[in-house]
Amino acid sequence: MIPVTKPFLPREEEFKEYLDSIWERQWLTNNGPLLNDFELKLKEYLNIRHLLFVCNGTFALQLAIKALELKGEIITTPFSYVATTSSIVWEGCRPVYVDIDPETFNIDPLKIEQAITNKTSAILATHVYGNPCDIDTIQQIADKHGLKVIYDAAHCFGTKYKNKSVFEYGDISTTSFHATKLLHTIEGGAVFTRDPDLLKKMLYLRNFGHNGPEAFASVGINGKNCEFHAAMGLCNLKHVDEILERRKLLSEHYFQRLANIHARFPKLNQDKDYNYAYFPMLFQTEDLRIKCMNQLELSKIYCRRYFSPALSTLPYVRQVKMPVCDDVVKKIVCLPLYHSLTFPDLDMICRIIERTQNYNIIESALPENFGVTIADKIETEINDLKSFS
Ligand SMILES: *Cc1c(COP(=O)(O)O)cnc(C)c1O
Repeated sequence: MIPVTKPFLPREEEFKEYLDSIWERQWLTNNGPLLNDFELKLKEYLNIRHLLFVCNGTFALQLAIKALELKGEIITTPFSYVATTSSIVWEGCRPVYVDIDPETFNIDPLKIEQAITNKTSAILATHVYGNPCDIDTIQQIADKHGLKVIYDAAHCFGTKYKNKSVFEYGDISTTSFHATKLLHTIEGGAVFTRDPDLLKKMLYLRNFGHNGPEAFASVGINGKNCEFHAAMGLCNLKHVDEILERRKLLSEHYFQRLANIHARFPKLNQDKDYNYAYFPMLFQTEDLRIKCMNQLELSKIYCRRYFSPALSTLPYVRQVKMPVCDDVVKKIVCLPLYHSLTFPDLDMICRIIERTQNYNIIESALPENFGVTIADKIETEINDLKSFS
């Protein structure tokens, strides 16, 4: 079975060392030494000043919206994971969708201004697949209209924009360290800001508002993370350069192998250092996307439709047509990409896609009811392939 992703796991002994230290101290949560160490090492690695490790990436988004005291309408993208929209709604604001750029699949900055009303308080954009948005243009629009900017940078560990961590942009950026993400702590997330006052505010909000054992600076909630998740983060951070390098090699191999496929890949921002967090592929037609996914599933290869559905079609939002996004959602697929994926498996995935496309072309040229189906043809070939690997 080849899933779309598999979590990176350090050697068990590496994790055990941290566990032993936890048992020794018997300090499990509440700002423990491993959590502090993880925050410190993250700052060093990313070369940034401020961040807070929190319980997950969705809470990080909620915390950002809360700390900026956003009200009314928040301009956002229809093409992201559901948490981008659900956290807006959860915090009592209304998502207003702006369609995506047909090349990058990030929010289209040229369409933002026409969506601004006197109720707009912020722009919440996702750097889709770890590829930075048009950050400069978005910031110019926000400055002109007095709006806050939040980036959902859940896919962005290791991505840089103009030689700085992409987490440095916007009023607040958030990320996720969920098990499916490039760097994970099993469950976890973080908020980033360059503003020390905002950081302090979020520090209180994260921990019940405590500013002493019996003192409270503000309202707060429990958004803390704990020693065990920090331990996993510390282990994985040691391997993150290796993880980034491996993904780059695998992705480059995919690009080579898929050169003859009628498909498009997102256009990468030119001011970036990319992290190869996902391998998205936009088929020419929905039909071909479905056929390829079906053929891959016959060989127990499972891709995922990141992202489907369009968030602008969720049952709890004011539903709107987003022509570019609605079209991309039908044709997009993320191919398997993870640290332990092998090159022979990757080759097999590419050959199945290639054959499906080629037979699709042949089949559509044959008279109807000719009796040849893609499934028949490919099944024999797949069996051949399997005998190789
Ligand atoms: C994973 C993800 C989230 C949510 O993160 P969790 O840590 O699972 O809560 C939010 N936004 C995007 C774009 C994501 O991919």
